[in-house]
Amino acid sequence: MSNKMIDINEITRKNILEMKPYSSARDDYKGNASVWLDANENPNNTNLNRYPDPKQLTLKNTIAEQKKVTAQQIFIGNGSDEAIDLLVRAFCEPNESKVITFPPTYGMYKVAAQINNIEIIELPLSENFELPDLEIIKSQCNQTGLLFICSPNNPTGNSFDPRLIKEISIFFKGLVVIDEAYIDFSEQESNINLINEIPNLVILQTLSKAYGLAGARIGMAFANEKIISVLNKIKPPYNINTLSMNAAIEVLKKQDFIKAQINELKLEKEKMAVILNSLELVIKVYPSDSNFLLVQFKNSDMVFKTLIQKGIVVRNRRHEVENCLRITIGTQEENTQLVKTLNTIQS
Ligand SMILES: *Cc1c(COP(=O)(O)O)cnc(C)c1O
Repeated sequence: MSNKMIDINEITRKNILEMKPYSSARDDYKGNASVWLDANENPNNTNLNRYPDPKQLTLKNTIAEQKKVTAQQIFIGNGSDEAIDLLVRAFCEPNESKVITFPPTYGMYKVAAQINNIEIIELPLSENFELPDLEIIKSQCNQTGLLFICSPNNPTGNSFDPRLIKEISIFFKGLVVIDEAYIDFSEQESNINLINEIPNLVILQTLSKAYGLAGARIGMAFANEKIISVLNKIKPPYNINTLSMNAAIEVLKKQDFIKAQINELKLEKEKMAVILNSLELVIKVYPSDSNFLLVQFKNSDMVFKTLIQKGIVVRNRRHEVENCLRITIGTQEENTQLVKTLNTIQS
């Protein structure tokens, strides 16, 4: 069985396929003009008085060049969370399709499925956070809907074998979504090239983590043009605002600066892993291909509460992985402060 046969029209929800999208003023007329009286804007220039480009062409062209894809293979969302929600809405039919996840993983896949009344199939990762056996995954591959693989995975921090990811995409009848929110920190290459080869593959990336723009809410989905055009059809027309769009274009020009920050954070991560591992409070620091460490403590609740009292917030993941806290790598000063505080708990 090969999915070279997958027809995106066939796995798109019928109501989405048949609907006519909202056509905004900026969609109806795209040419140049000197007088714009079509969108009921205030004519007085504030640099923000005009609606933003609903197609985000300047931003997409910048991204296209850097990622070696075409602008038609890019969807920009108000965070990748918007892309996750739109993917569920466009490609999952309630009472019919499923959302498949591999917990412990990012919580939004489940939430988006639940909001849209889509049944979730959870296939847990193994004890050392590997994907389940291919046979187990294959047994669910006749479902339609979405299969989410987060790589590097949040909160476990590890990446998955790209060959396995590719194999799953070939067997699954619906869309396979690889969430690469942490790819900029990873030792593995992005799977983005595979979108030219695998018609049912979607890659998610974001400017929220490595690029330092969490507040701007810019997420990206990469896939073949048909999938992208479905997402564009149902997105709110002006989902990306002018301020965020400009901030994104600016930060993407500073590749060297961002790369330097990433390298610094990776060094800090290695240092922190060694230090945390040496603490008596700590049972284990899991290997991380991202910008956080999953740390197993003897008593995570006690550590979590004590850190909060000292004004240090980490993420309690004990419901996902026993006695584990997820600790983001901060500045050198912040990391030192964390270690100092952990040392006071120690004694
Ligand atoms: C942080 C995170 C996101 C959210 O990205 P936004 O672009 O800020 O919405 C998506 N996926 C994973 C795995 C994340 O950890």
